[in-house]
Amino acid sequence: MSYLQFLGAAGVVTGSKHMVHLDSDGTRPLQVLVDCGLFQGQKEWRERNWQDLPLPAKTIDAVILTHAHIDHSGWIPRLVKEGFHGPIFATPATVDLCSILLPDSGHLQEEDAEFYNKTRSSKHHPALPLYTMEEAQQCLTLFRPVNIGEPHQLSNAFSFRLVRAAHILGSSMAEVTVRANGRGQKLLFTGDIGRVRCGEDVPGKIVDCGPTQGEECDLLVMESTYGNREHPHDDPRPELATLIRTTLQRGGSVVVPAFAVERTQKLLFLLKELMETRQIPRVPVHADSPMAIKAVQIFLKHTEEFTADTKALVAKYGSPLDWSNFYFDSTQSDSKKINESQYPMIIVSSSGMVTGGRVLHHLAQRLPDPKNLALFIGFQAPGTRGFSIKNGADSIKIFGQQVPIRAQVASLEQFSDHADTPELLQWLHTFHRAPRQTFLVHGEPAAASQLRDAMTEALGWNVQVAAYKQKVLLG
Ligand SMILES: [Zn+2]
Repeated sequence: MSYLQFLGAAGVVTGSKHMVHLDSDGTRPLQVLVDCGLFQGQKEWRERNWQDLPLPAKTIDAVILTHAHIDHSGWIPRLVKEGFHGPIFATPATVDLCSILLPDSGHLQEEDAEFYNKTRSSKHHPALPLYTMEEAQQCLTLFRPVNIGEPHQLSNAFSFRLVRAAHILGSSMAEVTVRANGRGQKLLFTGDIGRVRCGEDVPGKIVDCGPTQGEECDLLVMESTYGNREHPHDDPRPELATLIRTTLQRGGSVVVPAFAVERTQKLLFLLKELMETRQIPRVPVHADSPMAIKAVQIFLKHTEEFTADTKALVAKYGSPLDWSNFYFDSTQSDSKKINESQYPMIIVSSSGMVTGGRVLHHLAQRLPDPKNLALFIGFQAPGTRGFSIKNGADSIKIFGQQVPIRAQVASLEQFSDHADTPELLQWLHTFHRAPRQTFLVHGEPAAASQLRDAMTEALGWNVQVAAYKQKVLLG
């Protein structure tokens, strides 16, 4: 029996893992995992990171990775730790990004375990990391770069090609062709889908808009993060400038939790431009991440995917590493020095959803003071600290302490790298034919079910919300 099984990102936006299992007569089945993401957010989800897969990891033949975000890639080191030793196919930019993101994720896992052991706040003694930084580094040897559009054959019954997703640097969708139960069929895994059209409302967008058009498939596995939302259509720059200016004028600092690669660089270029055009004062800007410098280098290495606007900004201002009042804080002591300074500044630090990383120190220090601003420019998954802060919590637990939130909290939705519902429908209208079945993954239940209804009404397609461990027969 050949089937597809959803092993993550079903009913939730994290933990993307989709297993293609192809039976062939007489020989061992072929098993390919599309994405291998970490569950993040609520404890209920995070505990799934510790559960075994329903099949031994060593029996998986290959992984196809759509993009580098940790909710798609962050379980790879654990998969390898459990015995997987096959190739991991991804675009060259995704491979580069994973080379800094996965070790960083291992470092965060080690820090978490250390914290639990220090405070004895875990039921496990000793608490162990899901994987270490070293284990994450070791798994990088399994990565195999694959260019967009290049066909690859894994067996007589399985071939694939990566196509543009327009989501982040290196992001792709996986078009998979299988021969199952005597029939050939095409599966399309969207990964995360980027903005469909670029306009004034997506300034600083790094990767050019427009996921590949005119797709066709028999079975579509599609993300639904923004399945019940529409992004604002106005230019966020004036509001961004006002928020920063008023915070600095009252003597406060701005803390922006942001994903270290790409989202941080996008914001740095916008801040540079706002300073050069005198819309905000020239205060110190700290990109505080252990991978800050490497992240800038990767960002500047892959300009081929950039929008014309971003290319122009890069041409005009050069490398952020050379800007006078921008600081890249690689070491922990650099990071600690930021908190010793009382002068107004802008701190951009990861993780973007405040689930870990150095941003925790900055928020613990600055959330209690009403002069400061916590500014969100990315999606916050329910259950994360970022979600609670953004949605008006009075206090938040950081390092075991309840930190009162008296600082101003604001969010700008225009920076999203996900298509919203109207954009998703616009993209789906370009399909040459209706897929026989569509499964929605990577969305909160409300977002996924509303997108299902919108797709059924607008397109008349057969759409279902995927369930955890659900198997779909192929053929
Ligand atoms: Zn993503």
